[in-house]
Amino acid sequence: MRFDVVSLFPDMFSVVRDLGVTGRAHKQGRWSLGLWNPRDFTHDVHRTVDDRPYGGGPGMVMLAEPLEQAVQAARVDRADAGGQVPVILMSPVGRRFDQAMAQELALGQGAVLVCGRYEGVDQRFVERCVTHEVSIGDFVMSGGEVAALAIMDSVLRLLPGVLNDAESARQDSFNEALTGLLDSPHYTRPEQYHGVPVPAELVSGHHANIAVWRRRQSLALTARRRPDLIDAAKDAGLLSKADLKFLAELGAGSS
Ligand code: SAH
Repeated sequence: MRFDVVSLFPDMFSVVRDLGVTGRAHKQGRWSLGLWNPRDFTHDVHRTVDDRPYGGGPGMVMLAEPLEQAVQAARVDRADAGGQVPVILMSPVGRRFDQAMAQELALGQGAVLVCGRYEGVDQRFVERCVTHEVSIGDFVMSGGEVAALAIMDSVLRLLPGVLNDAESARQDSFNEALTGLLDSPHYTRPEQYHGVPVPAELVSGHHANIAVWRRRQSLALTARRRPDLIDAAKDAGLLSKADLKFLAELGAGSS
């Protein structure tokens, strides 16, 4: 897997390259990172990467040319002659990023991630070079770097061998294998913390009971916080009879 990032602040990417499980995986050569600063693709003395918007209004807009050349340089370096690699623009108007997209990206060769700044990027760059526009949520940040980091982190931890325990990704919130529910709560030592014990089921050593407890916690939490995910799981036929019975009992108890 290889990520190429087009950003005016390439230093921000040392976080995912050097720290934690993604840092370890980078050191092990499981993925590589190319950093491309649009400023290095300017040809004037001021190394201009932005200009005022046509039509007026506040802020500045990133110039198309340095962005396009940075993307092209990344492509050449990846030997992506056929233009196969996705070129993903971080953008509040893009499709909302989710775990399904992370899983899809984890099966591919990586991507070129383009980070906007200021008011955004010239639309002609988007039309010429970008294959996908992705948002990480309904809020606006000052740049696309944190969005690109979020995408990289969520994809990289799905690669084989990146997490210590392959099971832990399987059990995460939103994971398809667990029908897209939210994760159940976690506990570790000590067994009593300020007088609050770990739930008895988890210390019982009885694996079947533990699985039932976790499943029910997931169902109850998801029903409470994200009923949309319960509906989606139902529609996809991913809930068992026992799940549906438990949810019905929950509903009856709360009304
Ligand atoms: N004028 C734009 C916001 C620009 S914010 C608008 O209202 O839609 C500057 C840059 O930050 C964007 O070009 C984008 O790359 C990045 N960005 C901000 N919020 C983001 C989000 N929620 N998801 C992805 N990228 C975001």
